[in-house]
Amino acid sequence: MTEMNFDAFGLATPILAALKHAGFVKPTPIQQGAIPHGLAGKDVLGLAQTGTGKTAAFALPILQAMAGHKLHNRRFSTRALILAPTRELAVQIEQEFKKFGAGLGLRVVLIVGGVGRSGQVARMSRGADIVVGCPGRVLDLMNTKELIIDQCQFFVLDEADRMLDLGFFPDIRKIVTHLPTRRQSALFSATMPAEIAKLAEGLLHDPVRVTVAAVASTPARIAQSVHFVEGAQKRELLVQLLRDPAFTRAIVFTRTKRGADRVALQLNGAKISATSLHGNLSQNARQRALDAFKSGEARVLVATDIAARGIDVSGVSHVVNFELPNEPESYVHRIGRTARNGAEGVAVAFCDATELPYLNQIEKLTGIKMQVASGTRPAQAMPVKKPQRHPDMVVRKAKPATAPGAKLGAKPRRPQYQEKRAKVA
Ligand code: AMP
Repeated sequence: MTEMNFDAFGLATPILAALKHAGFVKPTPIQQGAIPHGLAGKDVLGLAQTGTGKTAAFALPILQAMAGHKLHNRRFSTRALILAPTRELAVQIEQEFKKFGAGLGLRVVLIVGGVGRSGQVARMSRGADIVVGCPGRVLDLMNTKELIIDQCQFFVLDEADRMLDLGFFPDIRKIVTHLPTRRQSALFSATMPAEIAKLAEGLLHDPVRVTVAAVASTPARIAQSVHFVEGAQKRELLVQLLRDPAFTRAIVFTRTKRGADRVALQLNGAKISATSLHGNLSQNARQRALDAFKSGEARVLVATDIAARGIDVSGVSHVVNFELPNEPESYVHRIGRTARNGAEGVAVAFCDATELPYLNQIEKLTGIKMQVASGTRPAQAMPVKKPQRHPDMVVRKAKPATAPGAKLGAKPRRPQYQEKRAKVA
């Protein structure tokens, strides 16, 4: 592909100024591939994962189309609808629209669950240009006519594969029946299983297909290694590793929500500032956790896959797989949180004897044999002990502790609350 920069797209001056201000000079491959078609009014089917620059790939053509056009003020109505699978991703997309559309005077409204709906309804009552939301709350507001999409000219479905995993397809099908047939649409997904291909066929009109880097490719800039360690020794090893100041900003992945809480508590006990992020936290607690991590108040973020999906924090020095995921693709997504925007990164995996099959699958997918940092590779995998109940269901006696995801140094939680959380988890 020829070298080019953003000037070549003929974007409006305020958008170009915002791109310059954000330090975007050269479009990424997905942007080079998708933006010209988006600007030409074509539907786009993008095969790309988070971290490739796909947000700007769909946002810039929409902003360009709206630049210089009279604002749309019909109450509760929007001119563009962007659906994302998680609240965190929706917030990030909203921020990108606001960043690049800053000089255009557009109204961007976020419609997500986990926070009160009245503020969102109040914003919608003045009409919106762009709504970014998650399917559940979007449908909720549509049902009460507090979000009207029958004049929506632009529709984007982001991370369709994750939407499918999370069971959002029935909601999405309901939502799209309310869209006008004359519209411009885009669908982005890291993978294209048959169900998504079918949905895309119904959603997109004669789309241009744009593909970038296969899911399995891990950036060469990420140094990957594995510690062979027994489950019971993992926390001690983690504390030991995190004492190294080179771990300036680390994300630790656990398999369960309760596991994330437990690891964060243990790290705080070892005087390592950590906060947890998972789907059981309220939207406010999640945002506080992310803010603490972004600001450096918490050096470590302990997260589950879904919560961490799509989060974009720059300068993540290390990703630790405290437990290996059972889907090798998740490993690739996880370690993609580091080494963003050309930086170097380190990915460390912990593997006990029961996780060996997961490690083998990961190495097969990435084609990289991981360097052994400590321990020895077991000759064969141990069978996984079947827990009586899901580990998240275990109710433990409450100990006063810092609320996961809460501001560090905040008052200990009330024991009753912790009991309740433990049951819900
Ligand atoms: P995304 O895949 O849209 O989540 O983008 C991943 C990260 O790359 C975000 O931090 C973007 O702000 C950043 N980014 C996207 N496109 C560019 C670009 N052309 N130049 C520099 N940074 C970019």
